[in-house]
Amino acid sequence: MPRDTAPRTIRDPRYDILFEPVRIGPKVAKNRFFQVPHCNGGGYRDPSAVVEMRRTKAEGGWGVIFTEQTEIHPTSEVTPYIEQRLWEDRDIPALARMAEAMKSHGALAGIQLAYSGINGPNLYSREVPLAVSAGPILTFTSDPVQARALTLTDIADLRGWFRAAVRRSHQAGFDLICLYGAHGFGIFQHFLSRATNLRTDAYGGSLENRARFLREVIEDAREVTKGEMGISLRLSLHEEGPRGLSNAELRDFIAMHADLPDLWDLAHGTWHACSGTSRFAGEGAQEDLVRGIKALTDKPVVGVGRFTSPDAMVRQVKSGILDFIGAARPSIADPFLPKKIEEGRFEDIRECIGCNICVSGDMTGSISRCTQNTAFMEEWRKGWHPERMRPKGRSETVLIVGAGPAGLEAATVLGKRGYTVTLAEATATLGGRVALERKLPGLSAWGRVADWRAGQIAPMPNVEVYRDSRLTAEDVLGFGAQHVAIATGATWRRDAVARHHLAPIPTDPALPLFTPDDLMAGGGPTGGRVMIYDDDHFYMASVLAELLVARGCAVHLVTPAVKVAEWTTNTLEQGFIQRRLMDLGVTLSLSHAPQSLGTETVLACTYTGRETTVAADALLLVTSRTGNDALYDELNARDWRGAEVQSLHLIGDAQAPGPIAWATYAGRRYGEGIDAPDQGDALSFRREVAALDPGHSLLPTP
Ligand code: ADP
Ligand code: SF4
Repeated sequence: MPRDTAPRTIRDPRYDILFEPVRIGPKVAKNRFFQVPHCNGGGYRDPSAVVEMRRTKAEGGWGVIFTEQTEIHPTSEVTPYIEQRLWEDRDIPALARMAEAMKSHGALAGIQLAYSGINGPNLYSREVPLAVSAGPILTFTSDPVQARALTLTDIADLRGWFRAAVRRSHQAGFDLICLYGAHGFGIFQHFLSRATNLRTDAYGGSLENRARFLREVIEDAREVTKGEMGISLRLSLHEEGPRGLSNAELRDFIAMHADLPDLWDLAHGTWHACSGTSRFAGEGAQEDLVRGIKALTDKPVVGVGRFTSPDAMVRQVKSGILDFIGAARPSIADPFLPKKIEEGRFEDIRECIGCNICVSGDMTGSISRCTQNTAFMEEWRKGWHPERMRPKGRSETVLIVGAGPAGLEAATVLGKRGYTVTLAEATATLGGRVALERKLPGLSAWGRVADWRAGQIAPMPNVEVYRDSRLTAEDVLGFGAQHVAIATGATWRRDAVARHHLAPIPTDPALPLFTPDDLMAGGGPTGGRVMIYDDDHFYMASVLAELLVARGCAVHLVTPAVKVAEWTTNTLEQGFIQRRLMDLGVTLSLSHAPQSLGTETVLACTYTGRETTVAADALLLVTSRTGNDALYDELNARDWRGAEVQSLHLIGDAQAPGPIAWATYAGRRYGEGIDAPDQGDALSFRREVAALDPGHSLLPTP
């Protein structure tokens, strides 16, 4: 029997407080669950995908749902990052559809208006950036572009552009407007902060002056909307640096302007701090910065903290820290979080693991994905729902070999669809790589990937799990399942092959050589000098460096990249990781790669080729992985169709190793694909193609 999503119990009165209505200016939110603005890598390019993503949050019970940042004018845009745009009336229909979806189950629909000022390089519009004070554009990529300072005329224009954006937001049907002044990304923060406001006119100097533009825009917004929309202000709780808007100064500002917005939306300092990964920040990490602010104002306060525990949420409200539980990532990982709390389905809550793979979608200008919620941003593209599955088709039985993230997700999806599923796992533990990685320093939250799925399939009578069952080709063919998925994972390579070395390099067999698999199995060095060679560039090498330091090793990390854990720029962790390794005393050789491996390893600079020698007692290679596809190959070498198997698939890391999110996605895709109609060469997802402009050429006539 497929598992249904019907409520099994009535709400526990302990959580009643989370379901109280709260007023935001002229509007009333039906409960305290507040999806703060968050990017999704789709934005204006994928309007319908974003609309349906937000609709699932409405269905999941959120009281307030916001868009991501919406650029209000072409003189300030953040290309290559893809957010929303409201530059002309032509942009209204897509956003009107968004507002309608957000309101479809009684949530308030909010739009976040952004003018990026010193943070907008205008690579697309090619307009000269305008900022509070002149200077180089402050972005992740140090774009070689400078902004000029807004003149008083420009400021008047900017007020006009905000008025137009507010009018369009009102017309699109939104209930709430959020003025963006957080994370260093919004002009309101740039005005408020002495770090970015060096003006000497009426908009600079005293805090009163620095707040002038904000007061003007809020006044304008109330006038344009005739007081019909709620206005929130999203500000950073603390800006680093001697001239940054400190937490103390922010409190002064709020005390001086207690009633200015209808809601205070408070986010950590930088985006990196606000969206800290679980490796570097726990649940409720900004509590010290926000505690006590509510006493300064009668207006409601929302804050974030990767809240997934209903008890932690209740404590935030009862102890007077927050009025609303703000959530971006917890709402991505589980759009039905409020509903599950309301219905007492706590074991069904799909907790965010704090990996920031979702963020990497925005950072890479691709569409975001979520390790935990495989339906995220696939609601419209593929018709995947975070909770409901399409019913089973004609087939009955599926055998899944391997209970890592891919196998577990496939079993969960197929179990919910109603198939008779057998999941066979070679070891005694479910989870595959996450069962091992969760034991590494800082990665315990990774375990939620296995725990949630194991918890979902445990009560399903149609899913049978066999542990300690390493299947052979013989076993698989003798099993008699109609469909077989091989999800047997991957193994770290022992030969340094990855990106820098595309073929093995000479290795001294006398050198004790290890891979992450050895360390995760409890082996590897327990002292002495260890050289780590990282050509993987994600989190693993740095995590194992921490592990080895804790074991008493002297660690020397070598990488051909210019930074430690280079790809983690996309998960907002790179700075934290590099700082941690430096604090731990790990020796770093950046932009270097070994020529050969031995107790005296010769490293060459990747730029000059200049060589240096590093002595080590042991070597840890964190390079690349090979899919464990031997079982699949063996089955293919036999006549599996003759054994009445209708389909055989290799999925997850076994097919092509990648991040955990890639494996859960592969499990979902496999599970959705059983008995799906053959699409031939058609795309496996929907996409929107820009409508061609019917207009004439603007070129001068010859
Ligand atoms: P993925 O990330 O693709 O899910 P993992 O490496 O996390 O891959 O998990 C693969 C799982 O498959 C591991 O738990 C491993 O023990 C299991 N496994 C590997 N070979 C077999 C086999 N022949 N029979 C059953 N389980 C297997
Ligand atoms: Fe949480 Fe990771 Fe999903 Fe983002 S991708 S919502 S951090 S589980």
